[in-house]
Amino acid sequence: MRGILFVLSGPSGTGKGTVCNEIMMREDKLTISVSSTTREKRVGETDGETYNYVSKDDFLGMIDRDEMLEYAIYNGNYYGTPKKTVEELLLDGKDVMLEIEPQGALQVKKLFPEAVLIFLVPPSMAELKNRLITRGRESAEEIEQRITNAKWELEQADKYTVLIENDDIEDCVCDVLDYIESKRKERNKVNSLINENV
Ligand code: 5GP
Repeated sequence: MRGILFVLSGPSGTGKGTVCNEIMMREDKLTISVSSTTREKRVGETDGETYNYVSKDDFLGMIDRDEMLEYAIYNGNYYGTPKKTVEELLLDGKDVMLEIEPQGALQVKKLFPEAVLIFLVPPSMAELKNRLITRGRESAEEIEQRITNAKWELEQADKYTVLIENDDIEDCVCDVLDYIESKRKERNKVNSLINENV
């Protein structure tokens, strides 16, 4: 039985990373795919766990050899999902989670129409802006650009399987976990019907 490919995405600042980390701590039947990136390693991150940190030349080589399931340039750096690893895990029956930004999520949908695309949204645009300001990583100009991007990304919301609001982190994590479980139940039901001898 093939695994399910879950994609957790949403505008910058909606809390994808935090939600994904919480899910990984509570859900042992889900494998998170480790992306490759050309960005610098931050303090507290581990090569091979947080990301595979590679040079731009290496990354471009992987694109040329068609080794990327999807990739995007974000903030001037490349980020991408290794195709082979994800395909092998799914074939092995493992459910896989990608935590990626929206350009990549929509590329995944083209290659894997059966993927479950979870779109995290903020409670309001004012709150999204507030979170971006509070995390203090972007300049005022970059924050305005993120808000503009977020509006375009929200216009693509109907391309996702489900939309989940991240107002309170705990509620959001529970909603995502419940949703993952409901998709597994659906798959198991369909499989048991298909395999039933009558
Ligand atoms: P950060 O540099 O803060 O770790 O990540 C920046 C953005 O890149 C986040 O929105 C994150 O979801 C996204 N991202 C991480 N890995 C990938 C990937 O493999 N593909 C794509 N398209 N986006 C990614």
